[in-house]
Amino acid sequence: MESVILFVAIFLMLLGVIFLIAAGAQNLATGVALVLMAVVLIAFVYRSKRMEASKPTLVTQNFNVTMSGSGQMEKKELMCKSCGAPLADDDLKVVQGGVLLTCPYCGTISSLEESPKW
Ligand SMILES: [Zn+2]
Repeated sequence: MESVILFVAIFLMLLGVIFLIAAGAQNLATGVALVLMAVVLIAFVYRSKRMEASKPTLVTQNFNVTMSGSGQMEKKELMCKSCGAPLADDDLKVVQGGVLLTCPYCGTISSLEESPKW
């Protein structure tokens, strides 16, 4: 999928350059538009690729910090905000920007912030 976008982007870039070389007010605008579109596409692919590459390490780091950080969040302190049921590691889901807790008993989904107060 990304390689296709990249291919299209390169094609657009080449097309834009051809328009730019051909000059003429109309062609110039088209050429600039095509090159800009190509740049946007490449930036998009680059960003999504970088996010994919950095995601697993980021998540692991966050998780380690959360679990063994300051000792504020031991397992026994993890409980459902709604029904008070204890939550296991399996109920933790690390997402971008935080940790989601899903209660297996009542299904409540609560988010864990960096310094929870419970
Ligand atoms: Zn619950």
